[in-house]
Amino acid sequence: MKKYTIFLVLIIFASVISACSNTPEQAEAPQVLTSVIEEDQQVETANTTVNSQVSEYSAVKNGLLTENEVVGLLFMVEEEKLAHDVYMVLYDLWGQPIFQNIANSELSHIEAVKNLMERYGIPNTAESNALGQFDNQDLQALYDQLVEMGSVSLAEAIKVGTAVEEIDILDLEEYLTQTEVADLTLVYENLLAGSRNHLRSFVSTFERQTGEIFQPQYLSLAAFEEIMAGSFETGIGSGQQGGKGFENSTSTLTN
Ligand code: ZN
Ligand code: ZN
Repeated sequence: MKKYTIFLVLIIFASVISACSNTPEQAEAPQVLTSVIEEDQQVETANTTVNSQVSEYSAVKNGLLTENEVVGLLFMVEEEKLAHDVYMVLYDLWGQPIFQNIANSELSHIEAVKNLMERYGIPNTAESNALGQFDNQDLQALYDQLVEMGSVSLAEAIKVGTAVEEIDILDLEEYLTQTEVADLTLVYENLLAGSRNHLRSFVSTFERQTGEIFQPQYLSLAAFEEIMAGSFETGIGSGQQGGKGFENSTSTLTN
């Protein structure tokens, strides 16, 4: 139970910690997360509810997944939806095709996590949420803040895109360290490859639009430069896993 509580704290503050430890010189990162922190009381309530349900899921009772792994899936399905929803709103606002293209790719990311949830019999309690609505109040606050920031200008909107992808990468890396289940690992690695593609696209669009050099907001400079040095990633599992048992793992997942 103690371990689980620590994990919840990790979820809530994962991005905060990364932002603080990796990019202390960046002023924007804490701005995004200030409002997230202010929602702490609600976050705790929401996650306490999830907590009591998770231990009742058959996958957990049967020892197929740990509670942490289930919490990770519930979180990631909503985080991928956050990416999709933010990009749809920004596309409506600015009409830049990149937002619609990447939003479409996020649909396949959502689908990949949903498939895992179905496979393990985990109810998707957030399924019926409308665009811009989230069960996880941490993500709700982040969504609200990102949409507000992205409404200021097209350059800010593209920076919101990079922020979403940077946060997504950090969260996926965190969840990868917490699972050894092959199909979860495979999906998370696919989503990571997709996020790296998305980040590269947003960064080059930002630099083209503004003529400025992009600075990472959440990732360390070293991690960011390593991603930018890479080229477009296709295929599944980044070559570390076979494609077995993962039917939706076409290149659309990493587009
Ligand atoms: Zn994604
Ligand atoms: Zn993405």
